[in-house]
Formats: sequence, structure tokens, C-alpha cells
Amino acid sequence: MIIAIDGPAAAGKGTLARRLAAALGFDYLDTGLLYRAVGMTVARTGADPADPAMAAAAARHLTPAELAADDLRGDDAAQAASKVAAIPAVRAALLDFQRGFAHAPPGGRGAVLDGRDIGTVVCPDAPIKLFVTASVEKRAERRVKELLGRGLEAIQETVLAEMRERDARDSMRAVAPLVAAQDAFVLDTTDLDADQAFAAALGFVRSRQPAD
Ligand code: C5P
Repeated sequence: MIIAIDGPAAAGKGTLARRLAAALGFDYLDTGLLYRAVGMTVARTGADPADPAMAAAAARHLTPAELAADDLRGDDAAQAASKVAAIPAVRAALLDFQRGFAHAPPGGRGAVLDGRDIGTVVCPDAPIKLFVTASVEKRAERRVKELLGRGLEAIQETVLAEMRERDARDSMRAVAPLVAAQDAFVLDTTDLDADQAFAAALGFVRSRQPAD
């Protein structure tokens, strides 16, 4: 069983995906982390993450240590991620790992993957697809709260501008752009809190799960 969750930044995908995975006993893969790790691996060398050769090499040789780096959660990593994510060779290099996880999750029961192209490219056959979205203002507001909560600096206008920039880059790129799969359940969390979003998502998942 594969659950594909896509949507723009800070719409609540990660929290939702983690909670669904825990409720169902499935394994969870945050695919954004892969792109963040590739972006920061290039950025740390002083090179531009948009450099196709450097980014593709980093994606092909991604190590567990790079995935565990402690600078992947900030907005520098998010911007670097969305630059490497527009490079076809980077996406191709990360595809096998994501599909492998989806089809043979470590726990053997099922997998929840969240990202931008899970329902459209990575797992187009996933029986359950969710597209989680919210207004850009609400997403920026949540992101500011999250950054401040982690003791990081955050200015509302800057976060909003960067979010718009990242939305545009993710939606307009030629390969695997951010778009809802035709068969995805669209969940708008603008006016929902995390519990309400989880309840709606779980209700949808249960309606699609074969009765046992
Ligand atoms: O989800 P997160 O904000 O961590 O993703 C960071 C960036 O990685 C996104 O803005 C997007 O450019 C890229 N990404 C992607 N495809 C995915 C997951 C993330 O292009 N499946």
C-alpha cells in the first residue's frame, strides 16, 4: 500500500504524512529531504546549486551522513533544494531510491511518501493520493511560526517572498512540476488545524482502503 502526498511548501504535508504513517503502521519518506541534502552538499562547496553537473554528481553519490546533516531544515536549504530539483539528472538520480522505498518499505506494511511529484511521477499507480494545499499567506505564517519555534530568525515578508519564489520555481519547471494528480484528493488546509487536516485525510484513506 502506497500513500502519495504532494503539495506546496508548508501546507502541512509533513505533519500529516508522519501522523498517517504512525496511525497505519507504515514507513514514512520525506522526499524533500533528499533534494535539500543534494542542494546543501553543493552549496557547502561554495558552488551554485543550480550547476547541473555538480548537482547531478551530488545526487548520484548522496550519503547517509549528508542526509543527516543539521542544516537541512532552514530556508537556505529549501531554496537550494528547489534549484537542484529543477535539474532533470538530479530527479532521475533520486527516482530509484524513492520507488524502492515505496514498493519495499523497511517495515513491510506500507509507505507514505511526501513531496511534489509523488502521485504524478514517482508513484503514479499509488492507490491513495492526497494533494495538500493552503493559501500562500497562511503557509508563510505557519513557516514563520515553525522557524521561530526552532529558535531561527524569520521575517514574515521575507518568508512570504521566498515562498512565492519557490512556488513559482516548483510549479513552472519543465520536469515533474508541482501539480495535483488527476486522481488526487485535494485537501485545502487554509482554515484547518493539524487535527482537522489529519481527520479529513484519515477519513479519505479509510474510504479507499480495502476492507479486511
Ligand atoms: O518539501 P520540502 O520543502 O522539504 O522540499 C524542498 C524542495 O525540494 C521543494 O521546494 C522542491 O523544489 C523540491 N522537491 C521536489 N520534489 C519532491 C520533494 C521536494 O522537487 N518530491
